[in-house]
Amino acid sequence: TEGLNPLFNESGISGGAAAASQRLTVLSGPSGVGKSTVVREIRRKHPEVWLSVSVTTRSPRPGETDGVEYFFVDDTEFDRLVAAGELLEWAEFAGNRYGTPRGPVESRLRAGHPVLLEIDLQGARQVRETMPDALLVFLAPPSWEELVRRLTGRGTEPPEVVQRRLDTARVELAAEKEFDLTLVNTSVRDVCDELLALIVAPTV
Ligand code: 5GP
Repeated sequence: TEGLNPLFNESGISGGAAAASQRLTVLSGPSGVGKSTVVREIRRKHPEVWLSVSVTTRSPRPGETDGVEYFFVDDTEFDRLVAAGELLEWAEFAGNRYGTPRGPVESRLRAGHPVLLEIDLQGARQVRETMPDALLVFLAPPSWEELVRRLTGRGTEPPEVVQRRLDTARVELAAEKEFDLTLVNTSVRDVCDELLALIVAPTV
């Protein structure tokens, strides 16, 4: 069945059989759990997987390229996208806004190709409401201690900043029950493999 794998970009698709596997998969989870590392690994090792590219008002970090990790926009442009209904979901996170452009996601799904979104919990809840068929995947830390270790980092931040982050993480972990399934981030490679299997798993 070469050519029918719906994971491949248009060039590799030969038609209708892909439609049965169309699925919107949402990867979310508490901050600090490693979502972006998982996505970076998928980009690197599985360039054939189509990932939605979000718009954000935050500034690019070193190594980030406009149109690859994000589309970097200003507040005016973000306002325009919201007003025009061009975002499937959007949320404010740590003082910046992030949103999923609606058009590319809808056209891929319509064409029968799977779509992967990596978004925060607020965004995942919006997708749950507007696209009830989406598969919501919660990325969980191996343990609370491990999440604390990741969130406290080098230990150079004021204790109240760290405390606030841990309080938020505790609330965020409770969101797991709203999700269809959980992947535990013990190894980036394992999570990628599990996620890839889910993305292509038949929905019927
Ligand atoms: P970062 O600034 O570290 O790249 O991302 C911060 C947070 O924004 C992460 O939790 C990430 O999942 C989330 N995020 C990235 N893109 C989107 C998006 O389009 N929508 C929503 N709701 N969250 C997003």
